[in-house]
Amino acid sequence: MSTPHTSAAGQDWELVIGLEVHCQLRTRSKIFCGCATSFGEAPNVNTCPVCLGLPGALPVINDHAVALAVRASLALECTVHDESIFARKNYFYPDLPKGYQISQFDRPLATSGQVVIGRQADGSPRVIRVHRVHMEEDAGKSVHDRFPQASAIDLNRAGTPLVEIVSEPDIRSAAEAAAYARRLRQILEYADVSDANMEEGSLRVDVNISIRPVGTSALGTKTEIKNLNSFSAIERAVEIEFARQVAVLTSGGHIEQQTMLYDDKRNVVRPARSKEGSHDYRYFPDPDLPPLRVTEAERQAQRDALPELPEARRTRFARDYGLPEVDIEQLLASRLLADRFEILVKESGDARRAANWLLGPVLASVNASGRALDAHPVSLARLGALIRLEAAGDVSNTAARQLFALLEQEDIEPRMLAEREGVLQVRDDSALVAWIDEVLAENPTEAARFVGGERKLQGVLVGLVMKKSKGAADPKKVNQLLAARAG
Ligand SMILES: [Zn+2]
Repeated sequence: MSTPHTSAAGQDWELVIGLEVHCQLRTRSKIFCGCATSFGEAPNVNTCPVCLGLPGALPVINDHAVALAVRASLALECTVHDESIFARKNYFYPDLPKGYQISQFDRPLATSGQVVIGRQADGSPRVIRVHRVHMEEDAGKSVHDRFPQASAIDLNRAGTPLVEIVSEPDIRSAAEAAAYARRLRQILEYADVSDANMEEGSLRVDVNISIRPVGTSALGTKTEIKNLNSFSAIERAVEIEFARQVAVLTSGGHIEQQTMLYDDKRNVVRPARSKEGSHDYRYFPDPDLPPLRVTEAERQAQRDALPELPEARRTRFARDYGLPEVDIEQLLASRLLADRFEILVKESGDARRAANWLLGPVLASVNASGRALDAHPVSLARLGALIRLEAAGDVSNTAARQLFALLEQEDIEPRMLAEREGVLQVRDDSALVAWIDEVLAENPTEAARFVGGERKLQGVLVGLVMKKSKGAADPKKVNQLLAARAG
């Protein structure tokens, strides 16, 4: 999956990428105080002496945030340690009221996990190792567009619980970087630890990039692109930074370790504040917080709370339903979609058709209406019944699509609807034979030639029967019945 880049000098370069992903945990209150974490409130409404960093205010850990962080770590197959330490990361920034951020440093919550991001050419899993998962608080937000002459600070987000997930530098291409981020979001969403919404900033990605000549193992100097907020931005930013580093090195320059920002509109990567990489954060254990202890019982409770995760589900779907890989990936994209697929398989008795209906008409309708998937007006029971009608040949594929559109307007049993709309295919032999007899009697010349052995007339006669039945006859059965009369 790697994409070595050949420079003008003929040297092949390999990309080496590691991701740091900040994920907001799904809690009602902040990590060290009781303030709400609700999104979209008026500025500075969700604040108190603790998250404002006022003197004398003391932090108290939110147990639910710890439980979710433990669950996230287990979902990433990490070892969750019995004891980890909260530390102060000291730096000055306007959106950081205390002058330090409470994070974890040399004793993180969890280490040594892994994420499977796909299959390699030989079918074996492509694994990206997870270096560590630690807990920390989010900073506030500087607002630059509210007042013409000044910047403002909104501290609603300060103290929101995060986990930071740091990968090993195992990623080798822009596509792999996006695939890793995508799979990570999927796992966090399945595990129900975060809404993992990139637009609202619940999932933010920093990418560390270096390059080295293909065939060498020493790491080059890295740059970090901060705060990427879409999968396509990750992919484009990596491509641009890779090309820039190759150009610098092949022209005899050297890479400076620095923080970069990706400008989505102009599609360029540019340096942020200079010398960012040389920061000394002067970490030390936070004296206001005791060591964070996680018992085996607490780990087990979170292990029990984990649902079947995407990779296990992928394997089971391939085995049980025999669907193409590309369909399975689409069905697994969200836990809700995969759950609904499994219900629809039960309702319809047909995995293939269930997948086609969900990924086709249902998703198209959901996307067009902007409704949530589980707010779609056609229940899975109704859709299952419709699929059964189609699978049995009681309605044609075309008629099934028309009935689906009607079911979106009206909640009615699909067979009753098909009858009412006159699209139920007539498959009863006596009715079909009566129509065939009439057609043959009305067209004696063609009938005689057909019975005499002119098989090519069958199509014409089927057409006449379909016309006589006003489209209700099942063309397959009409064909069978007619063929039996040919000489
Ligand atoms: Zn607070």
